[in-house]
Amino acid sequence: MILLKNGLIVTQDRDRRIFRGDVLIDGDRIERIGKEINEKADQAIDCTGDIIAPGMINTHGHVSMAIMRSSADDLHLHDFLDRTFAMDAKRTREDVYWGSMLGILEMIRSGTTSFVDLYYWEDEVAKAVKDTGIRGFLAWATLDEEFTTQKGNPLSNAEKFIKAHSGMDRIYPMVGIQGVYVASKETWLDAKEIALAHGTMTHFHLSETRKEVYEHQAKTGKRPAEWLDDIGFFGDESLAAHGVWLTVNEIRRLAKNGVKVSHNPTSNMKLATGGYAPLPEMFREGVTVSLGTDGCATNNNLDMMEEMKFAAIMHKAHRWDATVVPAQRALDMATIDGAKALRMEKEIGSIEEGKKADIIILDGRVPEAIPITEETVVPNMVYSMRGDAVKHSIIEGNVVMRDRKVVFDGETILKRSQELGAQLIS
Ligand SMILES: [Zn+2]
Repeated sequence: MILLKNGLIVTQDRDRRIFRGDVLIDGDRIERIGKEINEKADQAIDCTGDIIAPGMINTHGHVSMAIMRSSADDLHLHDFLDRTFAMDAKRTREDVYWGSMLGILEMIRSGTTSFVDLYYWEDEVAKAVKDTGIRGFLAWATLDEEFTTQKGNPLSNAEKFIKAHSGMDRIYPMVGIQGVYVASKETWLDAKEIALAHGTMTHFHLSETRKEVYEHQAKTGKRPAEWLDDIGFFGDESLAAHGVWLTVNEIRRLAKNGVKVSHNPTSNMKLATGGYAPLPEMFREGVTVSLGTDGCATNNNLDMMEEMKFAAIMHKAHRWDATVVPAQRALDMATIDGAKALRMEKEIGSIEEGKKADIIILDGRVPEAIPITEETVVPNMVYSMRGDAVKHSIIEGNVVMRDRKVVFDGETILKRSQELGAQLIS
């Protein structure tokens, strides 16, 4: 048992309660939350002056691209894709593993406890999940065979991966689809069928750029989201990334089908995709919107604290409306709405009795956290604090970082990623 003592608890429960108190963890679950718990625990962590919050959920990225950080900057998306696809073709299983370790190290150090990944060789990413203790939702990317650098058929690779990793601790295999620009109707529908057959979800890029939308419209007469709805792809198991170029009509189709959207503000701004995902309209129509960093080649970090701030301020700037995406909503997107996007809201995303113990403790005594009160703590987390304020991280009831020291070998990760990364991008 682990007892967290005397912290300011940001529960993210239904009432968004915030109070000073204790959290008792038994095994992988939160056993009790209260103003004062006097229980003999194996391990007590003094959280006086600190913030106890749910671990953040990063719902879109390509974690192993951490090793390709800053190798394709200041390019338009389609030039960016040419550049990264060329590097992709050179990738080895070894650098996918170490790239994943590097990304996970960075995520744990900045407060992420769950992440969604879209890439190939997800079995290497799964190994990194196992070796670090994080929670991974791993979508093996599928696309038409003629466009792939994967060996073998991407759909059968995805299914093989799912079969081999179902029911493993902290690993949730999913089916990925790269996007309408490289996947035919048959590929989309086969991907969905595999997901449904294994009770899992699909994860895919959707309407990220205007070019993608116009080209698809020229080819099929329909915008991507209309087309995906009409071919019967959309469902409650669909998690889309980006959703920048969507009409209100398309948003209604997403809502009607229960499609979730992972919003990636930093990546969209950096790649100059030119649009602003229509968040206020998605909220109005009842679409679940979560938050993602996208990969390190487009962000270039995986800091969800920074992502919350960009999500909040980008829409205020664009709409000339300071009330759009308030701090509480940004924190919701990074926590409980991330859980909803993964249909995991009964298990993760908030600090509530009976849920999985995925908890972070942030230093409440850094200058940017002061003054700290029940009223300022959420805006402080969103607008002023950064990922390096995260002191401890607990995932599935295991302490994976204590006083900013991870429990696995971080030094080797930095060393191997440096060697392999420099080689890959040279
Ligand atoms: Zn992406």
